[in-house]
Amino acid sequence: MADDDDDLLLRSRSDEELGLELEDQLLFDKDRHIMYLEMNYHLLPSPYEGQEIIRLTLAYFTISGLHILNALHLVDREAVINWVLSLQAHPKNEAELNNGQFYGFHGSRSNQFQSLDNGVSVPNNSHLASTYCALAILKTVGYDFSLMDFSSILKSMKNLQQPDGSFMPIHSGAETDLRFVYCAAVISSMLDDWSGMDKEKAKNYILSCQSYDGGFGLLPGQESHGGATYCAVASLRLMGLIEDDLISRYTSSSIIDVPLLLDWCLQRQADDGGFQGRPNKVSDTCYAFWVGGVLRILGANNFIDESTLRKFLLTCQSQYGGFSKFPGQLPDPYHSYYGFTAFSMLQEPGLNSFDVELGISTVTL
Ligand SMILES: [Zn+2]
Repeated sequence: MADDDDDLLLRSRSDEELGLELEDQLLFDKDRHIMYLEMNYHLLPSPYEGQEIIRLTLAYFTISGLHILNALHLVDREAVINWVLSLQAHPKNEAELNNGQFYGFHGSRSNQFQSLDNGVSVPNNSHLASTYCALAILKTVGYDFSLMDFSSILKSMKNLQQPDGSFMPIHSGAETDLRFVYCAAVISSMLDDWSGMDKEKAKNYILSCQSYDGGFGLLPGQESHGGATYCAVASLRLMGLIEDDLISRYTSSSIIDVPLLLDWCLQRQADDGGFQGRPNKVSDTCYAFWVGGVLRILGANNFIDESTLRKFLLTCQSQYGGFSKFPGQLPDPYHSYYGFTAFSMLQEPGLNSFDVELGISTVTL
């Protein structure tokens, strides 16, 4: 019996050692990741049929992902531009811009249908997140924004800002929180025009979301969360309200509590090297971007244990290409994209550098 136990211990120890050895041998498999994205570019697997309504978002993960991997030549640039532009909502006339609706981009073709149902027109469904994804794709493929009149986006985006400074993503019946403040900020930044938002109100809303522990919740008073913290810090940076490399320039007059924020973010790197979105949660690939990105904006990425982060991420790398949420699962477009952004921030050779605030690779025209 004792021998059996010893055998079991020996076996489990050697399995563990073997696992560690394999982990050490794992490399970022760029070619396989490109194949995975190329497959998604041409045809997503059937389980994604139900996500047709956010097709622009899935396209953003795919096309921006190919750009991170330096493989944008696989994309038909003209076809992509024409498809994205075809999803823009246009007001019939100038007066419609004041009807309270948003004239941005629809998430997909089916989302664009303007059918009549018993004489009642189905309302315009264009959405702030789809609009961000549309502009991110257009910018990534090098589209010249001066060729298009985007003024209706900014004029109607004003309709979405709430009295407390937050944004609703669609003209009625939706949540309002930091995610859509970020979308409004990044849209304004990409179009280089801030006339679509009241910055002072948006700033005050963002500041009201910083929690007692230094992180940001999606709404004032909510628990701090990695995604919300990214939306807050990236928005403030895009709005020019905090400086780059804030850690080395920090003064107590800064509009946010930087030492507490830094502490909260650094504590999100878990013992296995990955980042968690909240305390007591397991590590998840995407928070290497949401929390790691905040640390980068703050100029604090030197405090990240990059070696263990890399090892954790490689345990989520799929044999089919792409990344999964947790180790050993199947990949998905969302976690794959944020895995690629994390490796870009870790300066993996052969990858494009990443513009953290904009959420896309650095575009040089
Ligand atoms: Zn995740």
